[in-house]
Amino acid sequence: MIVVMKTDATPAQIDHLSREIEGFGLKPQVIVGTHQTVIAAIGEERAGLVEALEPAEGVEKVLPIMAPYKRASSELKRERTVVKARDLAVGGNRVAVIAGPCSVESEEQIVALAIKLKAKGATGLRGGAFKPRTSPYSFQGHKEDGLKMLAAARAETGLAIVTEVMAPEHVELISKYADVLQIGARNMQNYQLLQAVGDSGKPALLKRGMSATMDEFLLAAEYILDRGNPNVMLCERGIRTFEDHTRFTLPLASVPYLQDKSHLPVVVDPSHGTGKSKLVEPMCKAAIAAGADALIIEVHDDPEHAMSDGAQTITPAAFATLMAKCRRVAEAVDRGL
Ligand code: PEP
Ligand code: MN
Repeated sequence: MIVVMKTDATPAQIDHLSREIEGFGLKPQVIVGTHQTVIAAIGEERAGLVEALEPAEGVEKVLPIMAPYKRASSELKRERTVVKARDLAVGGNRVAVIAGPCSVESEEQIVALAIKLKAKGATGLRGGAFKPRTSPYSFQGHKEDGLKMLAAARAETGLAIVTEVMAPEHVELISKYADVLQIGARNMQNYQLLQAVGDSGKPALLKRGMSATMDEFLLAAEYILDRGNPNVMLCERGIRTFEDHTRFTLPLASVPYLQDKSHLPVVVDPSHGTGKSKLVEPMCKAAIAAGADALIIEVHDDPEHAMSDGAQTITPAAFATLMAKCRRVAEAVDRGL
């Protein structure tokens, strides 16, 4: 439910309504807008709620939130959310770019690459230290040593560090080094992980599960939001379909769909979305044209010898060209990059 307060509602009236909502076993969330204050009543809805709240002083109207996800819904919050971590701002007019290798391999690698990426306009540095690999025999990441390498790259460049967390018990450790906690596609429905990331309060980049529907994706985001962490980015990274010309199928219609249903910013990952380095630049351009708030792109000095995901990884030179081309697309749709 959303309780829309009258424009002249007093703080005492808002407090009173919040307590009434708590009395129904729901969590009140006061959202102060530019014109009006609204109070969201979050939780399983009870009979008699509208009848109890509507006549209260200061109330203009009580509306249901139709979507199953409440805090993520644009019905609750019309203004778009901007998630910020250092110079990385996702959700504003400027399209943000997060770039870096699939896995952090060495300090020399990540520091040298970060310098090149920053020079071309990236504001976020990606790199996996804890890697979710399909095979247990594949490289699993340098773990805490990898986090230290990322921290060294940040000390050198100021780029915001985006790195994956795979287990709730690692949230504290990874939060010491990272600016943004990435939740991978394979963990989108790991509810304890979502709650732990919610409790950390750290900006979160939530990847869409490869077989998740839009409602399941938004309900996963709801788990983080419901723990009081509003800093959630939704990342479309492609889904499994019958198609096999690409690693996954990258459905860009999810960008405007998510932006209509939710106030959360939407990031597109054309690297995992296609699995092919040649397709990364065209899909970055398409993602910007479709309204993406940010891109996350895998870049490596020597993709052929990358420890993971080389086939979908581009070189710094290709990244420089991509940025120049994407800037023109961004301008064409009245955005910056
Ligand atoms: C990654 O970003 O390297 C990654 C493993 O992504 P995803 O969870 O989308 O597969
Ligand atoms: Mn990868």
